[in-house]
Amino acid sequence: MAVNDSPLDLLWKEYGLVFRDFDDLSLARWLAQTLGQLEGKAWRLSHPLVRTYQLAAQAGQERHIWLKRLVTPPAAYVESPCCRAPLLPMLTRDVHEAGLICQHCSDTVAPFEDLPAALQADLKAWAAAYAPVHGVAHWDDRQRKSAGDYDRAYEAAAEEAEQLLGTAGRILAPKLLEFYPAVIWEDQDDCLEVRPEDVKV
Ligand SMILES: [Zn+2]
Repeated sequence: MAVNDSPLDLLWKEYGLVFRDFDDLSLARWLAQTLGQLEGKAWRLSHPLVRTYQLAAQAGQERHIWLKRLVTPPAAYVESPCCRAPLLPMLTRDVHEAGLICQHCSDTVAPFEDLPAALQADLKAWAAAYAPVHGVAHWDDRQRKSAGDYDRAYEAAAEEAEQLLGTAGRILAPKLLEFYPAVIWEDQDDCLEVRPEDVKV
């Protein structure tokens, strides 16, 4: 893992060191209080509070903070089946294969089949529309050649991804919010170089 860390991963690790100085109780309280502040909204993954929560959650996982039951998280958050941390799901373009992702252990917190039936069709259609768009970033040489102007195809795919991510934030994440106390949605696509500021909701 460490061998593959990008400069950005290393920087985030450095940022996360702040939580090492928290004792277990302070960290548990910080997490619980922040869950309270996240409650009731759909959040961009890029939001600084969300990113900070992720860093704290990672530190918490390393120290098994939720298993120690030092604090009671806000009542709306049930226990995750994956790691028993409070259930805080993230919507990504891989939702059809991977379901919703746990913010604490990065595992699947809700498999697609277990998502509310009312949402499955919308999520499936969105993910199916996204997959070929994202796929443009991973075309092989033959596909790139057959496209003629690959740069133009890549640019067009990036613009489509911006729209699709905007749909996730504007329509899909709020729908998920009817079933979860808070929801995070991925508002970027590294492979297509779509940045959060490119995604409008
Ligand atoms: Zn988990």
